[in-house]
Amino acid sequence: MDLLVVGWDAATSTHLRAIDLPFWDSLDHSGTLLPEELFHDTYISTGNAWTTITTGAPFEDHRVLGFVHGPYVGHPLAGPIKWVANRSVLPRLVRRGVLAFGLGNVATEGGRGASPQSTDVPFKRVWEYLSGNALVFGLPVSYPTWETNGILISGVPAPTPEEATQPLVSPAELQPTVFDEDFTGYHVQMDSPVNDENTSVEAFCDAHVDKTEAVADRYIDLYSDHDEREDFEFGFVMLRSIDDVLHSTTDKGVIERIYRATDRATRRVIDEINPDDVLVLSDHGMGPRSPLRVGKNIGLDHDTTRGVWGGTAPFGLERQLDVTPAILEYFGIDVEPPQEKDGYELVKKRIDETAVHERLADLGYR
Ligand SMILES: [Zn+2]
Repeated sequence: MDLLVVGWDAATSTHLRAIDLPFWDSLDHSGTLLPEELFHDTYISTGNAWTTITTGAPFEDHRVLGFVHGPYVGHPLAGPIKWVANRSVLPRLVRRGVLAFGLGNVATEGGRGASPQSTDVPFKRVWEYLSGNALVFGLPVSYPTWETNGILISGVPAPTPEEATQPLVSPAELQPTVFDEDFTGYHVQMDSPVNDENTSVEAFCDAHVDKTEAVADRYIDLYSDHDEREDFEFGFVMLRSIDDVLHSTTDKGVIERIYRATDRATRRVIDEINPDDVLVLSDHGMGPRSPLRVGKNIGLDHDTTRGVWGGTAPFGLERQLDVTPAILEYFGIDVEPPQEKDGYELVKKRIDETAVHERLADLGYR
């Protein structure tokens, strides 16, 4: 593998400086990674940020505003709404509300309550420019899965395997090797203390430490069990527990634990796969929640000024919009993203078990 990108969802510059993390501290190059200007110092959704990161397109073009909104379609009031949202004299929470309720309700298809689908995004994802294959695990807004060069496992907000009406894995034959009774995806089997005051923050963190380990295991297995693993030029694996855990607490010990687990799991993946280069990215940081945000059991909240990148090479990133061009440059691909896709060939459900095993062998698995 030439380049492995590891998503550290919500990893925060101030925390990374304060906590002792052997893998992160070993990276020679790092810096701040900021969203596009509209979201600076307000709020950005995880789905919006990762879609910008992996397409090189701004949100109005890639259409993903947030997990709880349909695709962005624009509106005559979008200009004035964005103007108000950028007034830095207004409190951050007010500007965030203007974006979520203004743009979210009037300028998206279906408004609040809908959720973005992979097929709403009209652009190629970064690995689709490569001639070789990719192993992509847990990328947000990648459900339903589609035929692509390599293997794709859907990330948040994909449903659980029981709820899913379409395959969570492309090619679909791999779904039984990724999901089983021990692994049902990025979800942990308990409600967040944010929504359920009977859940302890410690137990929630424990579940996320286990989940982080399990995602690392599945990723390593998918890579190691593949007969032609040299085929994978590019890798992406999402470790999203920092985001979930920090939303539920301000406890320093708990926060350190989930960072350490993420750092350890990353080290393990790197040691097993041994890619030429590594790039760690976060979609936003976390910081104190607004004192105006009441009625919810929230610990920390998204802070768009504290996102980070770190890598083994000087990727020179400043904005999320820089990531896809930098990766294409790394691979020597002379194309300016974003490029439109020719459409999505969705992965179909296949249930014939014999055919599944034959196809698995064809794919390089025994
Ligand atoms: Zn996030």
